[in-house]
Amino acid sequence: MIPLVDLKAQYHSIKPEIDAAIQRVLESCQFIQGPEVAAFEADFARINRAPHAIGLGSGTVALQLTLEALGVSRGDEVITSAHTFIATAEAIREAGATPVFVDIDPQTYNIDPNLIEAAITERTRAIVPVHLYGQSADMPAIMALARRYNLVVVEDAAQAHLATFRDTSVGLWGDAGIFSFFPAKNLGAYGDAGAVITDNAELAHKLRLMRDHGRDAKYVHTMRGTGARLDALQAAILAVKLRHLPQWTRQRQRIAGIYRIGLQGVDSLVLPYQHAEAAHVYHLFVLRSVRRDELQAHLKANGISSGIHYPVPLHLQPALEYLGYKPGDLPHTELAANSILSLPMYPELSPAQTETIIQAVRDFANTLSS
Ligand SMILES: *Cc1c(COP(=O)(O)O)cnc(C)c1O
Repeated sequence: MIPLVDLKAQYHSIKPEIDAAIQRVLESCQFIQGPEVAAFEADFARINRAPHAIGLGSGTVALQLTLEALGVSRGDEVITSAHTFIATAEAIREAGATPVFVDIDPQTYNIDPNLIEAAITERTRAIVPVHLYGQSADMPAIMALARRYNLVVVEDAAQAHLATFRDTSVGLWGDAGIFSFFPAKNLGAYGDAGAVITDNAELAHKLRLMRDHGRDAKYVHTMRGTGARLDALQAAILAVKLRHLPQWTRQRQRIAGIYRIGLQGVDSLVLPYQHAEAAHVYHLFVLRSVRRDELQAHLKANGISSGIHYPVPLHLQPALEYLGYKPGDLPHTELAANSILSLPMYPELSPAQTETIIQAVRDFANTLSS
């Protein structure tokens, strides 16, 4: 079976470096805070050209604490898209605010900036654009609106490490950007981990306190906080992997190019749209097919895994029923959920595997047209 992602292949490609990093942390016995965390934060800030990077326990908690630190609280509304992982809305809710969903641009799958203004009310406090699948949302348009209405912008870049828009890293357009290092993300830890980047020194300072029980000195707690630190083992692992990330990203982009050429001109498919000003880092390679479920079954029968990211939009999730949305409210989001399919995508995917996948997709398309 060709998997959707292959974490084992990646581990084996860098095993000596990873094992040495883990051993070093075990010998140091400093598992919380300390030099490993500081070193990774410095590296992650540098690679994004960000003034500050703050390690946190997960992408979800990174988003929640960033919203809280920027003043989002009970009674506020936060605009985002429903075509994303549940964590985006969960973090908004945990911060005490109400998620308000805006439909996506059907080409990029990211929030449609043209629809945001109509969703703004007196209670709107923030926008959380999601850079889905590894491609930046239209940040200049979103920032123009945010400035006009005095809204906070926190970018959910959980799937978009090293992605840029007009050569600026995602996460630096808004007040802050959050990243996830969930194992299957483009930069994945061996457990839960996340980070925030920002050019706002006050926000960075607040987040450092909030992640560590609001602690300013050993038993001096100057603000409300929680236990949401990035741990040293994960930081050491992430620092190793970060050194490979630019090359892994280029490899993802190369594989996307091969898919694109191989699947060109197949009538029943829509290939991923590449925005001219955005550098897509292909966390996922997502195509659309009118016969998606049959295509997925055909691939499975041919030993190829695929995924659906995401089959149930957030506005139709039982956990968010209290928001009062109903089917038909977000037509482009719902259409996407019913037609998208993610092909295997990871830097270690071999040319032979890529070719097998292309051939299987083409074979299915031929049965449709014959
Ligand atoms: C993975 C993901 C998150 C959550 O990150 P965790 O580190 O798993 O908490 C948030 N938003 C999006 C879009 C994600 O893909």
